[in-house]
Amino acid sequence: MNGLLDYSTYIFDLDGCVYFGPEPAQGASGLISLLSGLGKRVLFLSNNSTHSPHEVVQKLQSMDIHVLASDIHLASTLLARYLHETHGSLRLAVAGEKFLHKEMARFDHTVVPLDDTSADCLVMGRYLSFTFDCLVECVRQLESGGHFYVTNLDTHHPGPEGARQPETGALAAAVSAVTGKTPFSVGKPFPYAFTSLLNDLALDSRDCLMIGDSLNTDVQGAGNAGLDTCWLNPGGASETPSDQPNSPTFTFPGLAEVLATVQQEVR
Ligand SMILES: [Mg+2]
Repeated sequence: MNGLLDYSTYIFDLDGCVYFGPEPAQGASGLISLLSGLGKRVLFLSNNSTHSPHEVVQKLQSMDIHVLASDIHLASTLLARYLHETHGSLRLAVAGEKFLHKEMARFDHTVVPLDDTSADCLVMGRYLSFTFDCLVECVRQLESGGHFYVTNLDTHHPGPEGARQPETGALAAAVSAVTGKTPFSVGKPFPYAFTSLLNDLALDSRDCLMIGDSLNTDVQGAGNAGLDTCWLNPGGASETPSDQPNSPTFTFPGLAEVLATVQQEVR
């Protein structure tokens, strides 16, 4: 059995792990600065499709967590890059926030209005302004032959006090309910999210620990990519991973308990 400090790289999830909406997780700042001070590499891999890495850096700074934008890997970038690597430049109708549009353009795609049915694909992220009209336009995109891509399939993530915040998967489910079409996703738990990060940074999966609150995305996705995992389970014994193929390497209620254990290992 490994100890928590037996890794060179720590990959943190964001929502429900490092913060809950505007609230930092207890222990997050202390843990991340302790690991960095020990010379460990700290990275972030999130299905967030609403913000840019720079915006996440600013949010983390306000929580006394100091990291570089280049250490933050988000689903918008993963999808823009995946589409370019597999299909070249595409015409994309984008249902999502500003940064999703920006990333698609940065990877040489042409972003067309949502009601322009000449698009090759419909790309969807967490869209805070999603409306009924938007749903109608998304349906029209798929009915006119567009392929359906989403940043991630999570239906929700934990906000303040654990309250469920609707995610991309919930909006995609509305489109699927009307069209019968299933979206393709690259965010966690799908392998591309992990393999692209490992390949880009020349990381050995055995040296990395993924820390996150989701059994389906963080633990299963990282486990499939060969990483050890630390599952944050505030629910305690009421929620068990018994029906999942990959068991977490470590389980803690939250980052405060991870920090306490790391502090013991340091001594
Ligand atoms: Mg999470």
